[in-house]
Amino acid sequence: MHRTKAIYPISEALTSLTIEEVKRIDQEATGGEGWEFYTSGFLTKASVFLNKISARVREAFGEYYVEATVDEHHISTACTCNEKSGMCKHAVALLYSWVFDAEDFLDVGETMEELQTRDKGELIEIIGRIVQNDPRNIDFFDESSEEPPPELPGPLAALDGEFDE
Ligand SMILES: [Zn+2]
Repeated sequence: MHRTKAIYPISEALTSLTIEEVKRIDQEATGGEGWEFYTSGFLTKASVFLNKISARVREAFGEYYVEATVDEHHISTACTCNEKSGMCKHAVALLYSWVFDAEDFLDVGETMEELQTRDKGELIEIIGRIVQNDPRNIDFFDESSEEPPPELPGPLAALDGEFDE
């Protein structure tokens, strides 16, 4: 997780996020439900890129995609559960996962750096597998398309983090 001279470094705002800050956000946003959800262990495929973390959530009633963007004084979250009243327990659980299990997150920046060492033939093969796995990914070929991938959630639910400096 600690790379030297990384091209896509994990942001300072993310690496300096503390357990205390997440606990406070949890109390404000979900009254502790986020912690309960985190400890039940339903988050999978957690990944990190620059200042953004994301994961999939498996629940009895379906599967969601949750992400959080962490800036110096602000945390924005979005989740396909479409919770209307601000940050949902899935987002809080994602933040707990980050502060407790950051080493389990897939570092997308590391993968991107790895890709730069592959030759064209290998890259074509990799992209071919990605498209076969989910043909909707072919949408990414069209650079003019500003449409977000279908799974990404709508409006961001934002919560101002009162970070101590
Ligand atoms: Zn949610």
